[in-house]
Amino acid sequence: MKRRSILLAAAALGLAATGAHAQGTYPSRPITMIVPFAAGGPTDVVARIVGEHMSRTLGQQIVVENVAGAGGTTGITRAKQAAPDGYTIAMGHMGTHGAAPALYPNLRYDPAKDFEPIGLAAGTPILIVTRKDFPADNLKDFIEKLKNEGPKLNEAHAGVGSVSHTTCTLLASITNTKFTRVAYRGTGPALNDLVAGQVDFGCDQIVNLVPQIQAGTIKAMAIATPERSPSLPNVPTTKEAGLPEYQVSAWNAVFAPKGTPKEIVQKLSDALDKALDDENTRKRLLELGGVIPDKPERGGAALQKLVESEVARWTPVLKAAGVTAGQ
Ligand code: ASP
Repeated sequence: MKRRSILLAAAALGLAATGAHAQGTYPSRPITMIVPFAAGGPTDVVARIVGEHMSRTLGQQIVVENVAGAGGTTGITRAKQAAPDGYTIAMGHMGTHGAAPALYPNLRYDPAKDFEPIGLAAGTPILIVTRKDFPADNLKDFIEKLKNEGPKLNEAHAGVGSVSHTTCTLLASITNTKFTRVAYRGTGPALNDLVAGQVDFGCDQIVNLVPQIQAGTIKAMAIATPERSPSLPNVPTTKEAGLPEYQVSAWNAVFAPKGTPKEIVQKLSDALDKALDDENTRKRLLELGGVIPDKPERGGAALQKLVESEVARWTPVLKAAGVTAGQ
């Protein structure tokens, strides 16, 4: 009996030593960051910007893998199922970790329980944008058009439960309008079609819209934050433009699968924190209209709270709007 417990203790020590060793040398190979949307969209852009600096801190490349589908839930499901060893992480957002549970009754992950939160990467104000030759130059006229011709107008979004889909669902319910909804694998490709004039409008995260608005290839009707964005000083807020009820913002954040060792989660969290303190990384995010989380909003504990409050916030809104996956 004694001998057996000594053996067990030795085995446990051995395991602990290997674990500690593995964490001590982490990361010893590239890390995959799953982006649950197509390349070129806001989630992808934020992932690449913070990922680049995190790679330098960690001494290993963070390789972005775009796993698009089902409003981002396909990629996040993949991340949940990955080995919890720190070599697969994901860039989620307000849709995948806030709205999705209300819209997918068979969602294969629980945003608040199946992940180790690493930290918030960026806040992303929401804008209503149209193709450049859309016959309205301000929010009031745009809503008038939606009211009169809604079903003829095509709205581009990144799939049911995505940020673009969710925030335009909110717009429909606030304005009591209905329009034709067109799903893409991300708002990168959706924006390409908006620039090409193949779709009429969309609601989306600021980060890939700023360069296009500045270049005049699309038009911004309003930004749904209390204040204007320093990166788009000429774009009025929804409050200024006559729709004060439409206030909504989104965010992107990094998650690891549940069970990823604490030390590894901390290393990733610290690397993200460092990225957000880096002057060049900040500059790139700010130029695109991203909002850099303040210190108290960073890290795993703050992100866990955010996820829980977002699920609680969106569930009644989306249930009331009567939308489910497939619609
Ligand atoms: N911004 C997108 C969304 O609507 C997704 C993306 O980042 O491509 O959720």
